[in-house]
Amino acid sequence: MIQIKTPEEIALMRSAGLIVADALAAMRAAVAPGVSTEDLDAIAARVIRAGGAVPSFLGYRGFPKTVCASINEEIVHGIPNKRRVLAEGDVISLDCGAIYHGYHGDSAISVAVGEVAPEVLALLAVTEASLWAGLSRALAGGRLTDISSAVEASVRSHSHPYGIVDHYGGHGIGTEMHQDPHVLNFGRPGRGPRLVPGLCLAIEPMVTLGDPATVELADGWTVITKDGSLAAHYEHTVAITADGPVVTTAHDGGRAGLAVHDVAVAI
Ligand code: MG
Ligand code: MG
Repeated sequence: MIQIKTPEEIALMRSAGLIVADALAAMRAAVAPGVSTEDLDAIAARVIRAGGAVPSFLGYRGFPKTVCASINEEIVHGIPNKRRVLAEGDVISLDCGAIYHGYHGDSAISVAVGEVAPEVLALLAVTEASLWAGLSRALAGGRLTDISSAVEASVRSHSHPYGIVDHYGGHGIGTEMHQDPHVLNFGRPGRGPRLVPGLCLAIEPMVTLGDPATVELADGWTVITKDGSLAAHYEHTVAITADGPVVTTAHDGGRAGLAVHDVAVAI
């Protein structure tokens, strides 16, 4: 079921989103060679609790930690562990969610550890740019796959044949982390549910340097690229309003990222 939020509910989504943004910023600042994914998890847990929120991943279908921490060929759902220690040249994808007064925020970033190869920096930039291309189509009056199509077109606008992971995608979000509709990261525009004020979506492209085929590891969570190629993952939660999108998980509401697409935010 697609849940439509009132302005008051969107304000709570914004509060949840800002706590997630703070947790991701604190983890980003701590990323360095020698730091474990468990260390990063503890930082996020502290920030979320200090904000008066609850980690949404902890206990979700039995997930044992506060964040997902996925290194290099790991795409999503990596489990933080004190023996997983970051090394110079790694890429770490951090996915974080929090619940504030019953409402969810969900956001992810990929971060380079120290110096990485130019093609790795390009993968991160391409993936993040595709997220903002998708967010720029979170406009009342449009259709769901306008977002999907914009993500895909952005990834495909580069000469390197990046892979778009098609097994996983974005989702509606509100009083639960995962709601309808599922948001594909590819496809033709003009299809699917109409985008209406009060609809909140998590948009989350996963892009690979090589083939996008995936394998789930025996831990039942970690998803990796089948060919071992590097992956990146960026995600934001966005609320669609009559006056434009509000990226609830961005400190500036998405103002800077959406200005690139000539879209004004509603805050
Ligand atoms: Mg997420
Ligand atoms: Mg999500």
